[in-house]
Amino acid sequence: MKQRYNYRIHPTSQQEQLLAQLFGCCRVVYNDGVALCQQIYKEGGKKPSNSELQKLLITQAKKTEKREWLSKVSAIPLQQSLNDFNIAYQNFFNSCQGKRKGKKVKPPKFKSRKSNQSARFTRGGFKVGQHKIKLAKIGKVKIIWSRKLPNPPSSATVIKDSASRYFISFVVETIPEKLPDNGQSVGIDLGIETFATLSNGQKIKSSKPLKKYQRKLRRCQRNLSRKKKGSKRDEKARKRVAKVHSKIKDTRTDFLHKLSTDIIRENQTIVLEDLNVSAMVKNRKLSKAISDLGWGTFRTLLEAKSVMYGREFIVIDRWIPTSQVCSNCGFNGGKKELNIREWTCINCGVVHDRDINASKNILVAGGHSETLNGRGAGRKTSIKLAVGDEASTHREIRFKHLSLFQ
Ligand SMILES: [Zn+2]
Repeated sequence: MKQRYNYRIHPTSQQEQLLAQLFGCCRVVYNDGVALCQQIYKEGGKKPSNSELQKLLITQAKKTEKREWLSKVSAIPLQQSLNDFNIAYQNFFNSCQGKRKGKKVKPPKFKSRKSNQSARFTRGGFKVGQHKIKLAKIGKVKIIWSRKLPNPPSSATVIKDSASRYFISFVVETIPEKLPDNGQSVGIDLGIETFATLSNGQKIKSSKPLKKYQRKLRRCQRNLSRKKKGSKRDEKARKRVAKVHSKIKDTRTDFLHKLSTDIIRENQTIVLEDLNVSAMVKNRKLSKAISDLGWGTFRTLLEAKSVMYGREFIVIDRWIPTSQVCSNCGFNGGKKELNIREWTCINCGVVHDRDINASKNILVAGGHSETLNGRGAGRKTSIKLAVGDEASTHREIRFKHLSLFQ
C-alpha cells in the first residue's frame, strides 16, 4: 500500500527563489491546460489526450517567446502538473457518467498563486541524502528527518503552505502492518466538552485549539484589517494570521492522530456513530465548536488507520437512539435533554453516565456485544476503504493533506 511520509525542509533564500519559479511554472502549465480545454469545449471539440497536451503545453510552448522561461525549470514537475490536470479531468468525466461514487466532481479550475504551492518530482528528479535532498535544478535542500523512510520513495512533492513553511511529501510503498487480533472492541460517542467517550468508561477531553488561540488570532486579524491592501506590511500581517491558523490546525491534527492511533492499537473492532457533520456545521451556533473539534477528520483517520492495521471499522446509523436506551436492560427511557448528564433507568435501576451509556449502545449497535433482549444484530453498516482505489481518491486526498503534520 502507498503511504505518505512528510518532512520539513529548509531551503536557502536562493533556493526559495528557484522554488517560487518552479511553482509558478507548474501553475502556468496547469492553467494553460484549463484555458485550452475550456476554449476547445466552447468550440464543441474534444479534450486532447495527455500526451498531446504534454507536447503542446510543454515541449512546443518552450519554443515560443511567451513561454520560453519554462525551460529554466526541471521538466519533471511540469509533466506531473499536467498529469494531475488529466486526472482531475478524468475524475470529472467519470463523475458525469456515474462511474464515480460520492459528490459530483467539477471540472478542473484555475490555480491561484495565493493557495498552497506544490511541485512533484518523480524518480530521477530527486535524490535522498543524509541531511539533504537533491532536487533537479534546485540543488541540495536541508531536510529534517523526523522519522525514518521505510523504503525508497517513488515521488517527492515540495509544498509551500500559506504560512510560508516548506515541506516535502514522499510516496512510499509499504506493507500494511497488520496488528494481531486482540479481540477487543470499542464503541465511541463523540461530544463537545468531552471529545470522545469510550464504552470502557474512558473519557477524552477536547483539545479545542481554536479557543486556545482565539485571542491571538483576533489580534492578528485586527492588525491585518488596518493594513493598506497590497502593501508590504499587509503581506507580513497576512502571514502572521496564516501562521496562527496553521498552529491551530497542527495542534488539532496532532491530537486527533494520537487519539486515533491509540484507539486502533488497543481494539480490533471500532464502532462509531454516523454523525452528519456537514449538516451540523450548517447550524451556526454549533458550527464553530464542531469544526474546531474535528469530528470529521477523526472519522477519516480511524477509517484509514483501520485499513492500515487490519482493524474492523463500523459506522452505525445516526438514527439509533443511543442516548435514550439503557445499555443494561435495553429499556427506552425516552428523550433526555442535553443538560442531563446522569440518569437512572426506571426499568432496572442502573445509574448511567449519559456519554458512557451512549458509547456502550454504539458498541451494541455495531453488533459486537449483546444486551439482554439482544438488540443490535443486523444493524451494522460497515465502511470499506479501498486504498488506492479510484473511488477513494477524494478521501485519499483529504488524508494526504492530513498526514502533513504527523
Ligand atoms: Zn435499564
